[in-house]
Amino acid sequence: MQIVDVKQFVSTADGSRRYAWKTIPIGEALKIAEPRLRCPECKGIIALRRRSEDGAVPNRGEHRAKNRGCSLGDCFDGVKRLAANPIEPDEDSIGE
Ligand SMILES: [Zn+2]
Repeated sequence: MQIVDVKQFVSTADGSRRYAWKTIPIGEALKIAEPRLRCPECKGIIALRRRSEDGAVPNRGEHRAKNRGCSLGDCFDGVKRLAANPIEPDEDSIGE
């Protein structure tokens, strides 16, 4: 996947800040030291992978456990479902 959720402090419309999930591009996530991550769609645990040296495989996020119910993964079966052990599924992600 090319986008990931990272838990971070975000500014809200009223000027306050809160700790929330934010969906960001993979390139930004790689710049964060020890980010707290989850899949934006199925809320599953993901790991960041850097691109291969020859560039054939890009920077990406990968599910730790395959989820056939996630369209951001590589084995989607067409029916969206949360991960088996979702991370804070009740908290929505803030878009970019
Ligand atoms: Zn997913």
